[in-house]
Amino acid sequence: MESNFNWETGNFDIKQVPYLQLFKDIKTLQDYSNSEADQRKFQFKEGLRRRREIAEAELPPYLEYNAQTMGDFDLQGKISIISQCQKTAINLSGADTDNQYLKTIHCRKQWCPVCGGKGGTVHKSRLNSVLKRLDINKYNFRQFVLTLPPSVRDQMNTRENLNLLFSYSKLFIEKFYGQPQFDKLGHIKRYKLIKGAISYLHLFGDDENGILKPHINIHLLESLDEKLKIDQSTLETMKKWWLKKLKYFDESLTIVDIHYKFRIEVKHKMHALKYMTKPYSCRDFEAIEDQKIKKLLVEDLSGFQYLRFWGALSNCSYQDEMDITDIKTECESIVKEKLIYRFIQPFSYEAWKQNLIEIEPGFFQVKEKGLIHEPMEQEKEKTFIQ
Ligand SMILES: [Zn+2]
Repeated sequence: MESNFNWETGNFDIKQVPYLQLFKDIKTLQDYSNSEADQRKFQFKEGLRRRREIAEAELPPYLEYNAQTMGDFDLQGKISIISQCQKTAINLSGADTDNQYLKTIHCRKQWCPVCGGKGGTVHKSRLNSVLKRLDINKYNFRQFVLTLPPSVRDQMNTRENLNLLFSYSKLFIEKFYGQPQFDKLGHIKRYKLIKGAISYLHLFGDDENGILKPHINIHLLESLDEKLKIDQSTLETMKKWWLKKLKYFDESLTIVDIHYKFRIEVKHKMHALKYMTKPYSCRDFEAIEDQKIKKLLVEDLSGFQYLRFWGALSNCSYQDEMDITDIKTECESIVKEKLIYRFIQPFSYEAWKQNLIEIEPGFFQVKEKGLIHEPMEQEKEKTFIQ
């Protein structure tokens, strides 16, 4: 090698040029791989890979993400979380098709004008979760409303007491419609509910907005041939039992009320389910005068299960505030392919609508051009003609 070096020019002889070219190419490649653009590319890929790993290991509840963006943990800050409703989206990609999807994130708070109240996001989602778990053509419903007298209502201002109310309601339905379970001595130790039941917590009455009137509603599923009428004396026995339980909250109670109805026609069953799954609304929330009640709803009852499944349905669980895994599963059932969670991103329908195909409200497929691409004039025309 040394003999080919030209000491005068300080270069290798002409024969060595191919090698020089090779060294140059290697250097260019090394420079390229160290270039800023390439590093950015690498970091982006790395970021995606890590996000995916994190996403697959443990998906954070999306609300936590929203809460972090608020940076404000006082009550007012938590109430105003609803201003983040539909401002972010989950970016998903199709495992088979590589299609890009965006699912907008709803705040899913009952005091949000979009998410709460009749026909809002939460109402639709609760109704769906019930309907996908039971075939209303196969069952009739017993419908109980377990009411609370005013002195007990006033104590329903903690998560603990509301949970206790749910567990008493569960004992009620187990006691009157469950199977007795015996201990070794032949004594009944408890009752087990074999039939399916759905329970719903309603916090406000229908007549006055913002007045706290908590009560538990129960739908008990019965086979179509079951006789559903109950006589007055049975109902009185039930009331006596309920009174005994509510004495835990107020010993001086002497009278409590339970309303009973049954539903056998499909349209009545459907109506009952719609009514029972209804969350409270922004009108209820705005009408609340006591700040402590607002705090209860916003802080203490965050993530509370207002709808619970018992007996044959107890393997089902439902929460208004879905996490990303649940949202992803819901989207997968719509597009019929496995989706990969990529990241959460800001979302603006107005800015991107040209590049989005709406699959259903709040769920979009991104057109192949992506989000940044400005549609060409020709394409606009083409869309217009179609
Ligand atoms: Zn919302």
